[in-house]
Amino acid sequence: MKHTTHWIDGKPWTGAASARRGDVYNPATGQVSGTVDFASAAEVDAAVAAAAAAFPGWRATSLVRRAGVMFAFRELVRERQADIAMLISAEHGKVASDAAGEVARGLEVVEFACGIPHLLKGGFSENVSAGVDAYSIRQPLGVVAGITPFNFPAMVPMWMFPLAIACGNAFVLKPSEKDPSASVLLAELLAEAGLPDGVFNVVHGGKEAVDALLAHPQVRAVSFVGSTPVARYVSEAGTVAGKRVQALGGAKNHMIVLPDADLDLAADAAVSAGFGSAGERCMAISVLVAVDPVGDELVAKIAERVARLRVGPGDDERSEMGPLVTAAHRDKVASYLDSGVREGAVLAVDGREHPVTGGADDGFWLGPSVLDHVTPPMSCYADEIFGPVLSVVRAAGYNEALEVVNGSPYGNGTAIFTNDGGAARRFTSEVEVGMVGINVPIPVPMAFYSFGGWKSSLFGDTHVHGTEGVHFYTRGKAVTSRWLDPSHGGVNLGFPVNR
Ligand code: NAD
Repeated sequence: MKHTTHWIDGKPWTGAASARRGDVYNPATGQVSGTVDFASAAEVDAAVAAAAAAFPGWRATSLVRRAGVMFAFRELVRERQADIAMLISAEHGKVASDAAGEVARGLEVVEFACGIPHLLKGGFSENVSAGVDAYSIRQPLGVVAGITPFNFPAMVPMWMFPLAIACGNAFVLKPSEKDPSASVLLAELLAEAGLPDGVFNVVHGGKEAVDALLAHPQVRAVSFVGSTPVARYVSEAGTVAGKRVQALGGAKNHMIVLPDADLDLAADAAVSAGFGSAGERCMAISVLVAVDPVGDELVAKIAERVARLRVGPGDDERSEMGPLVTAAHRDKVASYLDSGVREGAVLAVDGREHPVTGGADDGFWLGPSVLDHVTPPMSCYADEIFGPVLSVVRAAGYNEALEVVNGSPYGNGTAIFTNDGGAARRFTSEVEVGMVGINVPIPVPMAFYSFGGWKSSLFGDTHVHGTEGVHFYTRGKAVTSRWLDPSHGGVNLGFPVNR
């Protein structure tokens, strides 16, 4: 049985054993595959102390050398991409190709962080007043923390720590207790890349570890990604404790299909974005808004495609969709099929009947489902289901479809499918959502743009990675300087020389 422990000061934790441990499951078999230590305040203290001790030296390390560590880390992650993907697949359940895809998207942030010498350039203005110059610099904050969700055990931490570290901070990561292994492998690779001990630390666990980080006076900033209630809590508790906080929450992403759209393209996109990673993606399409009269035809095309999806274990390369992360989550997701029907929706495709190819009977399986004629008051619409359930809402026209999207409390991602450039342009301007796709169903921005939603999908002002990420992990200083002219009266700042 595998045992995962904390990574503190450049090595696995060797201090007192954690009083609490959690089980880690293989979702494709339903069996416990390992255990993970749960940090108490004492272990969090040790990690923060290691980070605080490493910070002054790391901060003083040249930009070129910090970038050099990132370049080396990039190569190591590329070499071990398949191993990281297998670890993720074994604990999360997603198919290995999808897991490799999340590592690739995380690597884009590492590549962006390799440009840190350029990203941290300040401005300089000569002669802002007679003989006075002004310039700006950005400096690291100190010890910063990241708290991450189960659904992207490599990519979401990599949204945070490459930039935080490249900016000169020391980092403490608290990954999800459901799939903790990938974060430890990333820590080992950072050490191999030459990162000094203590600059990157990992503490495992749940609420107790999170609360210890939020209360710790030496933690200057917290990046969080997870569900909306916890994001709100982290944002409030962290802010009260005087920390800078960016807390990304849950989502309900709508895809509008206008009548002029290519319906085959739209059906392909809805199935890919709705059921990839079993719908356990914060940018998954969970609501399709079909504008009259395309609803019936679109649902038929989606049902046809869904029936052909191969559901099976993540380590079988023929599988397109894996199991859900836990039995409890699978049961909760499935409960929305019953509540949806009770509240008046039509169950067009029932994932409970979908065949599973390979994998053990006890695996946390649930096939892809489609609920049609969903309306906003239904719980299957209002709640974030976070599983392989696509809800279809019918709308009479563009304005009604836009009202549905803007009426949602969430504002993470959205997409519009149309061949009408004017409609797409208007939607881009009018929709109250942070990330918008035009004929692109999962509009996750590249690393050099910033990722983040609006409304209940983000608490705090700053999105992750891109230039907003650099700003989050640094603080600005404006310097105004006057150097006396050496010809001035009795004072001479020129280098003393014999005349
Ligand atoms: P979660 O909120 O349950 O857990 C996230 C993190 O918070 C984990 O590290 C967990 O240990 C910790 N945590 C859980 N409960 C806590 C509590 N009561 N107090 C303090 N800490 C707590 O989320 P999850 O189930 O791991 O991940 C799925 C959620 O994450 C979904 O809602 C999804 O939309 C969201 N998500 C959002 C984004 C985004 O970019 N907005 C990206 C990925 C996932």
